[in-house]
Amino acid sequence: MHWKKLTQVEISERVKAALDKNINYRKGLLLGVPATYLDNEIFYDNAPFLEDAPFLQTLIANPNHIGCHTMEEVESLPYFSGTQEIERELLTVCAQEIFKAEPNQFDGYVSQGGTEANIQAMWVYRNYFMSEMGVSANEIGLVYSEDSHYSMPKGANILGLHSMVIDVDDASHQMDLNQLQTKLTEAKKQGVKCFIVVQNMATTMFGSIDDVSKTANVFIENNHSFKLHVDAAFGGFIVPFADNSDELSFKNPHISSFTLDGHKMLQTPYGTGIFLIRKNFMKYVKTEEAKYVNGTDFTLSGSRSGAISVALWMSLMVHGNIGWQAIVEKLLDRTSFLCNKLDQMGVQYFRDPRVNIITIKSECISKELALKYGLVADDADGEAKWWKIVVMQHVKQDIIEKFVKELKSEQVSSESTH
Ligand SMILES: *Cc1c(COP(=O)(O)O)cnc(C)c1O
Repeated sequence: MHWKKLTQVEISERVKAALDKNINYRKGLLLGVPATYLDNEIFYDNAPFLEDAPFLQTLIANPNHIGCHTMEEVESLPYFSGTQEIERELLTVCAQEIFKAEPNQFDGYVSQGGTEANIQAMWVYRNYFMSEMGVSANEIGLVYSEDSHYSMPKGANILGLHSMVIDVDDASHQMDLNQLQTKLTEAKKQGVKCFIVVQNMATTMFGSIDDVSKTANVFIENNHSFKLHVDAAFGGFIVPFADNSDELSFKNPHISSFTLDGHKMLQTPYGTGIFLIRKNFMKYVKTEEAKYVNGTDFTLSGSRSGAISVALWMSLMVHGNIGWQAIVEKLLDRTSFLCNKLDQMGVQYFRDPRVNIITIKSECISKELALKYGLVADDADGEAKWWKIVVMQHVKQDIIEKFVKELKSEQVSSESTH
């Protein structure tokens, strides 16, 4: 894995050059585009702080990244090719350096978030199966574990797919593969002909990681047609830095696509999701009717700001792979420190060592303490079975130590009352 760290000056110059390459609404001849600069009554284009703020500069310049800019066969809107190049650079780092794709063997775009990227994947594979196998949407099963993000049922609902939720083991949070096999056989009897499989690279509540190869083997051994998407919305910027194996990368032939979220671990503003997929799939979601867009459209999004891509690109470049690796290690060390303390206290929890999430059994902590420290429950309205800690950048060592101390004294007082 390698991408070079850039200095603030280098970043600023690169973004300025990109903006210069874009058309300037104030100077260019742009009589037909339904876009313009931001209203300068409220978005000041001459504020002095803009000089050193490439993200805000791009926001104010207001480039549109509508469409998909990784497809050579497609010529994108030429007016904003400068910042679209930055988007392409960003996607290349994510696909080739983090997820080990072969050079230029991927497509992708910056989406509104993980939800959109997950639904984009389902949309691609749904249309792939409809077009290649002549099936209808309800003859396609969408397979995911009960720990998966709610964007799966949401996507199944929108796309008319047959939702298939698989239980996980209570201790390991791995999918019950026997149940999977049974449910696949049942679904086949009910007329489901092929499957879209979603595997998690860190679930939202537990940070658990599905075993992609084991899951894929169930489909292969039973001769079921499938396409497999990895939801790395949470884990995408953390797990590959803790686990360098090929299993959870494009080197694994079972995996066709990934979802990533900048606004989870990468500390970028909301709206910074990423969708990555192997070449030759995007064509299944080409919207021919998007005739006014150069190259038509292959995304769920429509218009989207180029500033979002610049924000993501800057976040990667300001650290370089070595700097980001160090940040991930620091967070994982801090997570392990807390786990050690929990072990000493006999507190029961779930944690995958490649992830900065600890999910504590509700019997082991009072609701009062959990709420005081802002832990998140698995069921926001009902009775919590689990409370989750995510060791994000703001969860510093001193807060963790304070929390441990209070948890300890809670244990002591409950022992003395029993
Ligand atoms: C947060 C999350 C999502 C959804 O991402 P949004 O950016 O909120 O749409 C999907 N999957 C997982 C595992 C997540 O943690």
